[in-house]
Amino acid sequence: MTPKAFASSADLDDKQQTLEVLADGVYALTADGDPNVGAVEGEDFLVCFEAMATPVAAREWLARLREHTDKPVKFLVLSHYHAVRVLGASAFDAEVIVAHDNTRALIAERGRQDWESEYGRMPRLFKEPASIPGLTRPTATFSDRFTIDLGGDRGELVLAYCGRGHTEGDIVAWLPRHKVLFAGDLVESRAALYTGDAFHREWAAATLDRVASFEAEVLIGGRGAVARGRDAVAAAIAQTRHFLEVMLREVGAAHERGGTLKEAFEAAHAALVGRYGGWPIFEHCLPFDVSRLWDELSGVERPVIWTAERDRQVWAELQG
Ligand SMILES: [Zn+2]
Repeated sequence: MTPKAFASSADLDDKQQTLEVLADGVYALTADGDPNVGAVEGEDFLVCFEAMATPVAAREWLARLREHTDKPVKFLVLSHYHAVRVLGASAFDAEVIVAHDNTRALIAERGRQDWESEYGRMPRLFKEPASIPGLTRPTATFSDRFTIDLGGDRGELVLAYCGRGHTEGDIVAWLPRHKVLFAGDLVESRAALYTGDAFHREWAAATLDRVASFEAEVLIGGRGAVARGRDAVAAAIAQTRHFLEVMLREVGAAHERGGTLKEAFEAAHAALVGRYGGWPIFEHCLPFDVSRLWDELSGVERPVIWTAERDRQVWAELQG
């Protein structure tokens, strides 16, 4: 058997990007399993959600958005610290870059290593990597809730923390007026989960319960298609929870019986591959996912920092 290429390093084909207008002044750009981004119009400004991996990639998204609106970007919201979602920030010329308190701390603590790790794992997303001026530093952070008045009769955009999940600092953006929820990587719609920096037990329980409690009618997950309608939203949340629960069950059983990490990986892979194996980044994510869950079950409170080197070691041990 030929060894699997490292992470997504062999995935070099551009994905089809689709810009959808979800309501008056509410936009989502989905991309066949690549990270999704969005934007919401205020009366005389824009709020952008997620920044892409490089300024050059972000400018392509902004060019498409500019076909609909020329309002300046006042707020750039970052759902969490991962490089592919934050390093394009400079392209937005935003007045304010908003994130969770923990995201600010994570960028300071491990932003540099995460940049190198993600670049190695998903080089295709880093369009012209030399255009990145440096780490993205949020300029406004919050712990629970941050409300943006959109002006006129546009209502408000509520940024909310739902607890630890995909990372220690994920936030969602909620438009009560249109019942639209930008969920970041807390929910994936027909895409595999990356849980290498996650808190599986909290995410699968209280955090997803809080996400569900918005009762959204449209949900834009971190990757995958827009979920439209209450049933599709519930299905996306249920799929995310199911993926986590299967991992907890399989990796938990191997851990409990004193098995090895490799055995845990093989059990989780076997249990998930039938339903999720064909979805974007499944093989890429699973070694990192199982490795983090193994640590979590071993009492390692905070995710160990991924470095380009550690990525390769875990990959060789589990997917090699
Ligand atoms: Zn992420």
